[in-house]
Amino acid sequence: MMKKYDLVIVGSGPGGYVAAIKAAQENLKVALVEKENIGGICLNHGCIPTKAILKSAKTYLDFKNAKNYGITVKKDSISVELDDIIKRKNKVVKQLTGGVSFLLKKNKVDVYNGYGTVINKNEVKVNDEVLNAKNIIIATGGTAFVPPIKGAKEAYENGFLLTSKELLNVTKMPKRITIVGGGVIGVEFATIFNSFDSEVTILEMADNIVNNMDQDIITDYTKALKSSGVNVITNAKVTEIGTSSVTYLKDEKAEKVATDVVLMAVGIKPNIEAFKDLDIKLNNGGVIVNEFMQTNISNVYAIGDVTGELMLAHVASKEALIAVDHILGGTQKMDYKAIPKAVYGMPEIASVGLTEQEAKSKNINYTVSKFPLAGNGKALADGQTVGFIKLIKGTELDEILGAHILAYNAVDILSEVVVSINSELTNFDLADAVHPHPSLSEIVMEAAMKKAIHI
Ligand SMILES: Cc1cc2nc3c(=O)[nH]c(=O)nc-3n(C[C@H](O)[C@H](O)[C@H](O)COP(=O)(O)OP(=O)(O)OC[C@H]3O[C@@H](n4cnc5c(N)ncnc54)[C@H](O)[C@@H]3O)c2cc1C
Repeated sequence: MMKKYDLVIVGSGPGGYVAAIKAAQENLKVALVEKENIGGICLNHGCIPTKAILKSAKTYLDFKNAKNYGITVKKDSISVELDDIIKRKNKVVKQLTGGVSFLLKKNKVDVYNGYGTVINKNEVKVNDEVLNAKNIIIATGGTAFVPPIKGAKEAYENGFLLTSKELLNVTKMPKRITIVGGGVIGVEFATIFNSFDSEVTILEMADNIVNNMDQDIITDYTKALKSSGVNVITNAKVTEIGTSSVTYLKDEKAEKVATDVVLMAVGIKPNIEAFKDLDIKLNNGGVIVNEFMQTNISNVYAIGDVTGELMLAHVASKEALIAVDHILGGTQKMDYKAIPKAVYGMPEIASVGLTEQEAKSKNINYTVSKFPLAGNGKALADGQTVGFIKLIKGTELDEILGAHILAYNAVDILSEVVVSINSELTNFDLADAVHPHPSLSEIVMEAAMKKAIHI
């Protein structure tokens, strides 16, 4: 007999598994279909494994820079053991995905291991079984895109060109790596391999790397990345991937960079094959949804990377909660005004709300307030003084329009601004709250003040 569910979810990334747990907590009968490991790109091949390897890179740098802190480490006593780094990364991933699997089981979610095909608006086929679904959530995520550049397909097939997924399991440290694309993923890997002493080149087609960030942040971040040794080439259009080099056009001249491996990091394409028989409306390859995450078919929802918008794990998870709320009869709408964005380099970038470019183009009356890390006691004690916070303040209502932080621990101190924007607090509120001392978070308070104390 066909199994009946209130909700069938296809894909178990931070969109799908969060939807499954939340719906089960609310007593819906839930099935979750996953063709690979539980946890999706984020837990298995994205957010978490990159951060685990980044931690190894930071640890290596800490040893190399130990002298700055009065500790002597003999140079030839430090070595990078790539096998052990990858093993540790795999252990972290296993622990986390194991934890999620346990939670799914505890919440009585039926997990189906196999490729899910949405046959019609009430049926999902997995392996030889057809599941009946009152509601469906599509959470199939996306796949790294290899553009049709001359030689790219062949290079991918013979292992000279990799996407982030393969690079996370690299078995030999490349002496030289060329990264095509200077977005979040590209610069994160640049930081990792540069720290491990590889020669790193980033080829970016646009004028800037990390180009959705505030311009002041882009400028200082690029400076920091370059001074750490990464070769950043912008306005570079890659035209050919060879067998040991990459060719690109810059200022209408063809240039070549010799390399041992190429990382293709130019974007992610939504996975839409599983529901191609359904008449679901798409835009630029991603599923179109309304503010409740419904597609044009009212009992079929889509969340996360498959929508092709704001491809971030925390966005996928929030959209999951919105979709489940709507299935339960709620009316909460997805609101993108306070979505944090992060780049995990050295330093990190954390950003929420409008950039100065956006405030300007929207003709909003604003002022800018900046506070440097060099004026913060904790940053000085930590020996990490590169960076600043920049607040974009609304002139009329003192609203917090945007916050942009370049700092060694930027991501961990952003959330108070996210909460503040979400709750429509003002810059005064940020400045008025007593912040712990010494802490990096004091830079938020200082920048929010009408006049900072320590500058
Ligand atoms: C290298 C890298 C680093 C990243 N770092 C960060 C970060 O630090 N922070 C951040 O917020 N985001 C990060 N991201 C982005 C983040 O991983 C994605 O935004 C997030 O995983 C999207 O979640 P999702 O649930 O939409 O899809 P996914 O996580 O992609 O999960 C989709 C799942 O669906 C499964 N699936 C697909 N089709 C089917 C089918 N037909 N049947 C069964 N199963 C199917 C897939 O196997 C997969 O497990 C990173 C991405 C990459 C590649």
